[in-house]
Amino acid sequence: MTLAAHGRVIGLDISGMFGSGMRGALIDSTASLIARKEAFTPRTSADELISSLVAMASRLADQGEREGAPASAVGVAVPGLIDESSGVVHRVPNLPLQEVRLGQILQDRLRMPVFLTHDASAGALAEYTVGAGRRVSDMMMVVIGGGIGSAVISNGRVLRGAHGAAGEIGHIVIDPAGIVCGCGGRGCVETFASETSIARRYTMLAKEAILAEEVLVKAAAGNPAATRVWNDALGALATVIATAVALIDCELVVVSGTMKISSEAMTPLGTLLARRINLVQLPRVEMGALGDTAGVLGAAAVAFERAGMGDAAQAWRQSGPVPVGQSTSSRA
Ligand SMILES: [Zn+2]
Repeated sequence: MTLAAHGRVIGLDISGMFGSGMRGALIDSTASLIARKEAFTPRTSADELISSLVAMASRLADQGEREGAPASAVGVAVPGLIDESSGVVHRVPNLPLQEVRLGQILQDRLRMPVFLTHDASAGALAEYTVGAGRRVSDMMMVVIGGGIGSAVISNGRVLRGAHGAAGEIGHIVIDPAGIVCGCGGRGCVETFASETSIARRYTMLAKEAILAEEVLVKAAAGNPAATRVWNDALGALATVIATAVALIDCELVVVSGTMKISSEAMTPLGTLLARRINLVQLPRVEMGALGDTAGVLGAAAVAFERAGMGDAAQAWRQSGPVPVGQSTSSRA
């Protein structure tokens, strides 16, 4: 199916994954972001969070109407456990969304079709389509944020699995006797390599409370405690990524994050992977190219496809990289 040439959709990203707040964009069939909004994510109640999402989407929809090219559907990137087919959000860590029929509620209030997708899948789809992965067919994306998000593109398609959770490496256990994780387990990779864990581990070692981003700066300057914490994070990531590579045989690992991570800071990951991957081909490691627009772009691609407007992901891949920087951004 070819992509509807004049179609527009709205992409929303609730996440804390690609930034500290929620993001939204009005996106056309060439993957251009016609307008962008961002706002802090309300964490007190589901009603407040949903109202904020509706307000953001409504402003973007109004702009489409004014320009004579209205949006026809909405894609929403949601962190946590969701059912994409029913639009139900089961649970989102750190957000007041539990067993909420988010898809239906948004659809009723916005009066257009709404499709939910997992935020790491959305990010991976966007990087695969117009970002760092646009020349490969098999890749995985790892997002270092408040948690560790990840998703797999296999032979050009997001790998979903029986319950939509395929490719999630964040809660693979590295140390069964380790620190308690938000999932209830112990010693998951997330307890080593998420932003929260990096900051917490540094504080435990150095008795100084700083942000994860500052730990990386200190590690780059040779601070022993920061170096140890970052090396432990990279080691844990390398162990689970190597396991994933053995299962999926991807040619590229795209790393992205909410905090600023230099490509120099990620360089050791390639060496650590080489020590752990022997029989299968070693994948390249690259930083994500789309930053915090990955979530809204991926959500938009899902909306185009599920609303029957065409396979945006394949169409965008064929037309080349997106002029992401050309759009305007404003706080909602
Ligand atoms: Zn866990």
